[in-house]
Amino acid sequence: MALTVTDPRPEVGPGQLFVAGGWRPAGGGDRLDVVDPATGRAVTTVAAASASDVHTAVAAARIAFPEWRDTPARVRARILRQVSALIMARADEIAAVESLDVGKPITLCRAVDVPTAADTYEYYAALALTMEGTQRGVPFPAHAYTRKEPLGVIAAITPFNFPLILSSTKLAPALAAGNTVVHKPAEDTPLSALLMAELLAEAGVPEGVVNVITGLGSVAGEALLTHPGVDAVAFTGSTSVGRHAAAVAGEHLKPVSMELGGNAAHIVFDDADMDQAVDAVIKAFVFNTGQFCMAGPRLLVARSRYEAFLEILGHAVPGIPVGDPFDETTVVGPMAAERHRAKVEEYIRIAREEGGRVVAGGERIPGDGYFHQPTVIADLPPGSRVVREEIFGPVLTVQPFDTEDEAVELANGTSYGLAAGLQTRDVARAHRVAARLDAGIVWVNDWAMLDPAMPFGGVKQSGFGRENGPEALDSYTRTKSVLISLA
Ligand code: NAD
Repeated sequence: MALTVTDPRPEVGPGQLFVAGGWRPAGGGDRLDVVDPATGRAVTTVAAASASDVHTAVAAARIAFPEWRDTPARVRARILRQVSALIMARADEIAAVESLDVGKPITLCRAVDVPTAADTYEYYAALALTMEGTQRGVPFPAHAYTRKEPLGVIAAITPFNFPLILSSTKLAPALAAGNTVVHKPAEDTPLSALLMAELLAEAGVPEGVVNVITGLGSVAGEALLTHPGVDAVAFTGSTSVGRHAAAVAGEHLKPVSMELGGNAAHIVFDDADMDQAVDAVIKAFVFNTGQFCMAGPRLLVARSRYEAFLEILGHAVPGIPVGDPFDETTVVGPMAAERHRAKVEEYIRIAREEGGRVVAGGERIPGDGYFHQPTVIADLPPGSRVVREEIFGPVLTVQPFDTEDEAVELANGTSYGLAAGLQTRDVARAHRVAARLDAGIVWVNDWAMLDPAMPFGGVKQSGFGRENGPEALDSYTRTKSVLISLA
């Protein structure tokens, strides 16, 4: 059945670049369409920055850096707390823009994206006050201590799937530590970054401290990576672009943090609470329409429970409400762009070719938007590409296992290592398996438990560096040693 989406939707005016505290068009006058993924219609346009616009933004951030660095941490903290308060004060508006831009259910934007962004600014406001060096003992007469210092101008490059949260996880610690920022959001979903530029200024972030340049990765992103005025690169996105970005930044000896792709395994042991496990498994693969770097698309189920689990999924998954993101009952919205849905369809085609059994879904949903049925595929052959590669859509593959060792081996049998999870009632097993999984974050008996206090990040091809927690500040600070002779 075709899916029709009805208005009203929020109106969004054309976006400009936010540089040195003001709005300006791209120098070359180029614009990009912003498309509502639920209708396929362009809702507005934003400026497409050129290399020369990037240069202007970096120059503004350079000029603003010394004063922001020397602003007392207490003042920076107060401003960041104000950012948090303003996000919550404008929560409905921000949620609506994020929903329109990405196709996320409005209920998800209100419950997760907006409050998480606010919490992140509040958390790093607190950490701004605790960034301290240490005094060290040395075996000669000297006063020896370390200082934590900001790096300078940070290029913050973010992906399409959680625009508001992932910009906050970079901007909040970078600003708390006294850096200035040039932020390039993803070309498909730039709207909340522009709203945040306005809101950061309103909160008292001085001009030039945060600059937002919308535009293509291959033009604006590339210009940022190579710009000599950029001191460090904080990148979140795909492993393939991340590899390129790290190589380019490496050529210029710029420090980088890399938050890249994922393909998490979710293990259901035979002793798991099955109702809890089913809920977590569904959440893990449909949350944000599966466009979640920490999604759990690879389900591993103890063989004794394998067929029963597939039967439960076969009944439950077709009942998940897919539809208009602005409908409060919607759980799964459209994919953010047609090319992402086409990629999902291609993997399902490969799965069928490889002899996979489609237990639920398997088809696009006709209509103007980029909707796809949540899909469950079992019985794929060992080594299947559909299991190994990051699909980044609402697709779950299911494999059986016989022993704990085999479950861990299958879970770790991918080049990625961002997240992993397991369902068990055995506490010893929970700790034992959590320790053996190659992942930056492990969840037991639930999925996607996230908080600004808990670090996440990758191992293997999922990247390096950590976002959230005090650990994130490592990507935005350097340590200086000072020794003063007392002789
Ligand atoms: P992407 O790699 O296509 O784009 C990410 C960003 O890089 C965008 O802003 C894009 O414009 C920019 N970019 C593209 N080419 C560039 C270039 N040559 N130089 C500089 N910048 C360039 O990723 P995407 O499709 O937007 O996002 C999905 C991917 O992001 C998935 O692989 C997902 O797993 C990953 N992701 C990772 C995390 C994490 O925390 N590890 C979080 C969210 C998403």
